[in-house]
Amino acid sequence: MTSSPFSRRTLLGGAALGGLAVGTGTLTGLDSAAASLQGALPRHVDVVVVGGGISGLVAARRVARQGRRVLLVEARHRVGGRVLNHRLREGATIESGGAFIGPTQTHIAALARELGVPTFKEYNTGNSVYISSTTGRMEYAGTVPPDPTILPDAARLLQEIDSYAAEIPVDAPWTHPRAAEWDQMTLGEYIRRNAVNADGVENLIRCWTQPGFGADPSELSFLYVLWYVACSGNEKNLGTFSRNSDTENGAQERRFVGGSQLIPLRLAEQLGDIVALAAPVHRIEQKDHHAVVHTGRGTVTAKRVIVAAPPPLVLDIDWFPKLPARRFELLRHLDMGQLMKCDAVYERPFWREAGLNGFGISDSGAVRAAFDNSPAPGDPGVLLAFVGGSTWRRYGVQTRAKRRRAVLEGFAAMFGEQALHPVDYVEHDWTHEVWTRGGPVANYAPGTMVQLGSAIRRPFGRVHWAGTETSTYWTGYMDGAVRSGQRAAVEVLERL
Ligand SMILES: Cc1cc2nc3c(=O)[nH]c(=O)nc-3n(C[C@H](O)[C@H](O)[C@H](O)COP(=O)(O)OP(=O)(O)OC[C@H]3O[C@@H](n4cnc5c(N)ncnc54)[C@H](O)[C@@H]3O)c2cc1C
Repeated sequence: MTSSPFSRRTLLGGAALGGLAVGTGTLTGLDSAAASLQGALPRHVDVVVVGGGISGLVAARRVARQGRRVLLVEARHRVGGRVLNHRLREGATIESGGAFIGPTQTHIAALARELGVPTFKEYNTGNSVYISSTTGRMEYAGTVPPDPTILPDAARLLQEIDSYAAEIPVDAPWTHPRAAEWDQMTLGEYIRRNAVNADGVENLIRCWTQPGFGADPSELSFLYVLWYVACSGNEKNLGTFSRNSDTENGAQERRFVGGSQLIPLRLAEQLGDIVALAAPVHRIEQKDHHAVVHTGRGTVTAKRVIVAAPPPLVLDIDWFPKLPARRFELLRHLDMGQLMKCDAVYERPFWREAGLNGFGISDSGAVRAAFDNSPAPGDPGVLLAFVGGSTWRRYGVQTRAKRRRAVLEGFAAMFGEQALHPVDYVEHDWTHEVWTRGGPVANYAPGTMVQLGSAIRRPFGRVHWAGTETSTYWTGYMDGAVRSGQRAAVEVLERL
């Protein structure tokens, strides 16, 4: 291994590492590539980590800090995985992938603090906008829009979801006495059985599931959704629907100054030549005393392997011996959501002057959920549309020009005609990313969690599993990625 200022010896000293963590705030993907391993891969290490998203980077750092030889191999030419900054023409940075954090997401918050990445509060002053084909446009405050055709059903349903979620063990949702019953039905079916205005409620809940899961209620196991809500908390605070869905006091409360990708970029900068980019893993063999990891840049043997790639990508690796049948079936039924982010950029956040906070939901069109995505100083103004699930299936396949028009019309319906005239428009479709294939998370189809869920964290010989989907809190989120990387590192360290 060539030496770098962030070599293993440096990593042994937590204080030194902490000192190095406070970077310039101007790191780019290219900077992280320059700090990474150039040339040949080492032939033998203690641990290979597959995947340079937040979970893999956290796992690699934790193992390296214990003085073990680690190599992280990442398929892309950059780190961060589902976390990706976008530099606007105007110079400011927004996020194309994971962006928001909120209360109880203490692991990502602590990591960001350590790395010198501050947060700022998502703009939340003024009213939200609700558009419905039955009641028209209304402005409102709070979590649920006061639509009289939906409110009674929605209030009861959300209360039921919270009370069921409170009973779900986050590390074993399949053990709940009603797990089989709930896993057999989708969230959509649950709504249809229990709501008077089922169509209206299901349509409203789509505004939550499309950004949150990249899927519709009719595609998600009800047990999985209850577990997801249960995971929206921590060891001291029960997960709740509102902590998952809200801005104030919820998962959308804050964003990172300079963009969330600063976190993986700074982790990679610390790890230096422990990280090898453009090294996709295509085969993993397990022998009696070691594992052999075959990458596009060469072959490495290791005592243990941590795989921190999204579930569907794990199936593309050629496994010898083959993956255990239950894990293989589980991965086959964990489908990435379908999601893109569409951002319109304006000289200033004009909606704020009209007393609007930039959050909007609609029961139709390309913009089912909109957020104020302006950088910290509010200059320029940015509106964000999450286009997910069936809305992605309709608009994601259109030409960029058509989709742009539909998105701007959606913003205009919520925030006024000015929205039709942005100075810039950017979009990022995660279904086109070959090393992610969708987002924000891999979802459980009905029936899968009870039958196969217990395989999710079970090691396979010398191979251990990280990645946000393996977390017991904030699964699907950056916080879950940090937690899972830490857990997998501890697992491996105990066995080295
Ligand atoms: C549009 C969008 C919006 C989101 N919004 C939020 C949000 O607001 N807040 C939040 O907390 N979370 C959000 N998320 C989710 C969050 O980004 C993820 O939960 C988190 O980044 C996952 O990290 P990870 O390390 O588990 O996986 P990933 O980030 O997916 O990292 C996995 C890595 O493995 C690599 N890889 C895959 N296959 C191989 C292979 N064969 N060999 C080598 N490397 C491989 C990939 O290239 C990738 O770098 C969002 C995600 C998306 C897509």
